[in-house]
Amino acid sequence: MLEVKELKKSYGNKEVVKNVSFTIDKGESFGLLGPNGAGKSTTISMICGLLPYDRGEVLVSDRSVKKFPMHIKKKIGVVPQEIALYPTMSARDNLLFWGKMYGLTGTKAKSRVEEVLDFVGLTDRAKERIETFSGGMKRRINIGAALMHEPELLIMDEPTVGIDPQSRNHILETVKKLNEQGMTIIYTSHYMEEVEYLCNRVGIIDHGEVIAIGTKTELCSRLVGGSVVQLTIEKASIEAVEALRSLDNINQVVTKEESDVVEVFVQNPHETLGNIMTTAVNHGMKIGAVEVKEPNLETLFLQLTGRSLRD
Ligand code: ADP
Repeated sequence: MLEVKELKKSYGNKEVVKNVSFTIDKGESFGLLGPNGAGKSTTISMICGLLPYDRGEVLVSDRSVKKFPMHIKKKIGVVPQEIALYPTMSARDNLLFWGKMYGLTGTKAKSRVEEVLDFVGLTDRAKERIETFSGGMKRRINIGAALMHEPELLIMDEPTVGIDPQSRNHILETVKKLNEQGMTIIYTSHYMEEVEYLCNRVGIIDHGEVIAIGTKTELCSRLVGGSVVQLTIEKASIEAVEALRSLDNINQVVTKEESDVVEVFVQNPHETLGNIMTTAVNHGMKIGAVEVKEPNLETLFLQLTGRSLRD
């Protein structure tokens, strides 16, 4: 369905997307996971044809986005981060407007608006002006706008940032349902839990590069020393960190500047925990809290980059 080949984009002399490549099959739900500034929005803007790329190629159903923009427009629905709605128009009229932009008219357009309102759970607010809606409700109508022309591929850019938990859950359930109904999805986020919940395959992006790609199981199997023992420290000690590094069964110890957290990667945390604590304390570290985290995409990101997704 989608092929992204060695995509590149620079602003001035700063390369913000560097050789990004991936493919997505029809019916997949693909997550692009990375921290703020990683290059997610830039990548998907190029996929949608909203931003020209410097190098590389994007093919949607084997056709170049550059050469066949109209073909792409029909196949793709885009939910941008910015709300693209008219604040003084009603929810219903906004959807009708977007339907017209995609060539829907007459009773077909009207009935599609009702279907979409029902799908995003806002039929009872249809007549009200967008400016009276909460941030989460605006996002839901924004998603509705992208669904009006029944696209084959839905691309969403961090659709749950800054909204209330109820709308967030509604959006996640909506995306899940769309994918179950056969729609192909690209979902960008810096929230690991959302990507893990929604996506069957994930590309992890950092500094404009895809640094890992695969199913969650494939990605987590790359973790050297599956679990992480996270120590929140009240008193730092370089000697303690060095002593932890030299312990048996410890794969990696990650510290961050100006952070009170030390992450210790281990295979069997419950067997090594006692030893970790004793060693740290004996070497002058004062520990405030301990948490054992099971392997997940967040811990993989931490191991690959030394940073957390929310840094
Ligand atoms: P993400 O969506 O992962 O948060 P973006 O794709 O928005 O990341 O941004 C990637 C990098 O490109 C950032 O460093 C950002 O500051 C930079 N960037 C994005 N848009 C522009 C622009 N129009 N001009 C200059 N730099 C930009």
